[in-house]
Amino acid sequence: PPLHRQRHQFVIDFVKRNKPKKVVDLGCSECSLLQKLKFHREVELLVGVDINGTTVKKKMHRLVPISTDYLQPSYDQLRIELYQGSVTQKDARLRGFDLVTSIELIEHLTLADVKSFSEVVFGYMTPVAVIVSTPNSEFNPLLPGLVGFRHSDHKFEWTRAEFRSWYSMVCLEFGYEVEFTGVGQAPSGQQEGVGFCSQIGVFRRRGVRDGCNMVLGDDAEDVFSYTLLYSI
Ligand code: SAM
Repeated sequence: PPLHRQRHQFVIDFVKRNKPKKVVDLGCSECSLLQKLKFHREVELLVGVDINGTTVKKKMHRLVPISTDYLQPSYDQLRIELYQGSVTQKDARLRGFDLVTSIELIEHLTLADVKSFSEVVFGYMTPVAVIVSTPNSEFNPLLPGLVGFRHSDHKFEWTRAEFRSWYSMVCLEFGYEVEFTGVGQAPSGQQEGVGFCSQIGVFRRRGVRDGCNMVLGDDAEDVFSYTLLYSI
């Protein structure tokens, strides 16, 4: 399957295994991952955030329930919310989730904004788990015809060592542990040492017992910087 589908399948497999109740997809774009996640009955709150409201609005109406959705016993417990906002800014409505996904997003940020992203996601939102995917630049020589970055809007593409130095810092600073993995393997025989095409870090907050997030203390700053676009 194409790489974007493999990345989404990676998230879906994680959701099946870990059964998070509250999930937010950062940089949700046209909501294609949310569209797949809404079929997982353990999920009670599904949120999408993107800085580009026009992109989000394009296909968001596909998230409305269709009649067969109601064949799932728990379907009426699902709530979906879409916001326009930047992952470099805090919003109190996104605190305390069980899972945050950031699929091919951070490479669109400047390094200064990656620092804000880390503080917002790991330091402020404090989810139980976070999945971050980003291109592995060591794989680029295997992509035919590629000159420069994989996308003109990318601000960087990291080697495995560069990704590791970022996620090690995040773990140390914010109390997470990480498992390094990825999707998209080199064809056998072709430089298998380069690693995955998309590298993925799966972060888990230290000291969380049952996998679901506890209610946060009331010392939380009540900032609301995102704009609600859709709620159903
Ligand atoms: N996550 C999607 C997926 O898996 O198909 C696609 C990601 S797309 C390559 C990157 C997305 O990140 C774009 O929709 C872009 O608008 C969004 N984005 C870029 N900077 C952002 C920011 N600071 N805050 C929120 N979203 C941002």
